[in-house]
Amino acid sequence: MSEKSKKLSPLEVYNLLPKTNCKECGYPSCIAFATNLLLGKNKLEDCPPLFRDPKYAANLEKLKTLLKPMEEMAETGIKLDPDKCTGCGNCVVVCPVNVSIEPKIAKGIGVKRFDLIFLVENGKAKILDLEKCRRFPPERINCRVCEEYCYSGAIEIF
Ligand code: SF4
Ligand code: SF4
Ligand code: SF4
Repeated sequence: MSEKSKKLSPLEVYNLLPKTNCKECGYPSCIAFATNLLLGKNKLEDCPPLFRDPKYAANLEKLKTLLKPMEEMAETGIKLDPDKCTGCGNCVVVCPVNVSIEPKIAKGIGVKRFDLIFLVENGKAKILDLEKCRRFPPERINCRVCEEYCYSGAIEIF
């Protein structure tokens, strides 16, 4: 796994926060802030002490560097590596959005529709329309079903 695709854990973020649980961000603790940051529900700027107090400046720079790959990705945080994809079709079948668009998919019936999120073509999965993903607003659900069922590791969610 490349450094860039390595998953960030809330603890890694937490360790670089002020760890004072001051609640200025509106969360009850720094670990709650870190967890929600990785879900895209808040930004570093929502932690005022981190920017106000020069003693946190070095940690702030480290946090910005750590979080940069997330900013560069689609808002859903989903990456599909075609080199690792075996074309098994699991992502097509398990994605709840795919199934809600075309219920036949849940019965294992191959359907070629271009309004789905995932489709397998020529032995490789393609992402057609990521904006339908439940990770996007308004739902913003931390769905990871496709990643869980992609046994080859081709799908990664940050
Ligand atoms: S504002 Fe920053 S230091 Fe205070 S609780 Fe939130 S994350 Fe922790
Ligand atoms: S995260 Fe969930 S909704 Fe989004 S593409 Fe994967 S399975 Fe579908
Ligand atoms: S589940 Fe993974 S390996 Fe299977 S088709 Fe989807 S991306 Fe490819």
